[in-house]
Amino acid sequence: MGERFNYLTREELLTWQHRIEEANRYNIFCHCRTCNREWVASRLEACICGSRSIEHIACWQFPDD
Ligand SMILES: [Zn+2]
Repeated sequence: MGERFNYLTREELLTWQHRIEEANRYNIFCHCRTCNREWVASRLEACICGSRSIEHIACWQFPDD
């Protein structure tokens, strides 16, 4: 019996783990001042509406509730 996931190859799994690590380090909450869209990105990026007026808040800055 192998321990491999039957829906992910080992390479895909490693890619996922790497992306999750990066997201944990770089999670940035983005808020578009133009269309009010909100999303979380791993890097600073423009909104899909084309606006570059984005408010960026690092997730670790959120106060504990
Ligand atoms: Zn927008």
